[in-house]
Amino acid sequence: MADEKKRDYYEVLGVSKTADDATIKKAYRDLAKKYHPDLHPGDKEAEAKFKEASEAYEVLSDAQKRKMYDMGGHSAMNGGFGGDYSDMFSGFGNGGFGGSGFGDIFGDIFGGMFGGSRARRKTGPVRGADVNYVIRIDFTEAVFGCEKEIEFNSKKECRSCHGTGGKDGAQPVTCTRCNGTGQISRSQRTALGMISNIMPCPDCGGSGRIIKEKCRDCGGTGYVSARKRLKINIPAGIDNGQGVSVRGEGEPGQNGGGRGDLIVEVVVRSHPEFRREGNDIYSTVKVPFTVMTLGGDIIVKTVDGDEKYKVAAGTQTGTRVRIKGKGVPVLNGYGRGDHFATLSVDVPVSLTNEQKDALKAFGESMGGGTKKKFFGR
Ligand SMILES: [Zn+2]
Ligand SMILES: [Zn+2]
Repeated sequence: MADEKKRDYYEVLGVSKTADDATIKKAYRDLAKKYHPDLHPGDKEAEAKFKEASEAYEVLSDAQKRKMYDMGGHSAMNGGFGGDYSDMFSGFGNGGFGGSGFGDIFGDIFGGMFGGSRARRKTGPVRGADVNYVIRIDFTEAVFGCEKEIEFNSKKECRSCHGTGGKDGAQPVTCTRCNGTGQISRSQRTALGMISNIMPCPDCGGSGRIIKEKCRDCGGTGYVSARKRLKINIPAGIDNGQGVSVRGEGEPGQNGGGRGDLIVEVVVRSHPEFRREGNDIYSTVKVPFTVMTLGGDIIVKTVDGDEKYKVAAGTQTGTRVRIKGKGVPVLNGYGRGDHFATLSVDVPVSLTNEQKDALKAFGESMGGGTKKKFFGR
């Protein structure tokens, strides 16, 4: 163990000597996310960085170990024994990360990256990651629901190895370094007693299994990428940013775990006339000023088509009227929102001389010339 070459743990994590637990955890989380072996298969440098960060975190996240390290640096951690005590301490770590404070961190990382805490690293069955797909639909398609066919990249079982990843279908073998546990534990004697470090097995990357000779067609993954077409039912009432999940159409799982889900996120195109807020729809309707003044029927466009509406005499511009039940259906529920139309006076722009004269006469009859406020009171 070339300890003198080891970097300072605080430096490794990029935190100050007085950093609190949360800062240390966050720093490690960021590094682990960056260098996790799963994300860089075969990259030795990333693996080394990941190990270095894990070791630093292992010490600095433990108050007792951190205290010792602060007092004596790396040498305090070894206490004169450079040996590997893993055999003496096997059985202490109770199944890995969970016992050493790594559990929630890896849960966080994989939860955040692959969209499900079920994707946590372990040697048992691991469910595949969810796959995200974004689909654009029209305003009215979102209101009433629709069926869409999508095409996306989906991993399907490699035909050459039938999914084993081994050449000619050979099954992976148990990793001899970790005996299939996916993790190795290193124990060290220190001034305060034995300390056991548990870390992912570098040989198998934590999977516990190794493929001796990889299948050439899939590079040992057991899967090849293929385009897949799928019909998706978009339910009525879905809104921008909401999604539909299709079970079992995500990434394949590991060690017999099921596939993840396909999450189809909906982006709704805006409508030239309608605006949506929750389950209500808003629009503006131009109404002739004679109708606003005298009252009369108008047509309000809704997602269901034209609706007749009776405008009361003396309606002011800007008045908002409600047409019940012509809004958006409640997603996965009952009932619909309303349609709200804001009435706005449609000022005539090209009048004949007769019409102008009639209006002038009207204005005068209201007690004001055209120089005063038109309909002024
Ligand atoms: Zn293959
Ligand atoms: Zn291993």
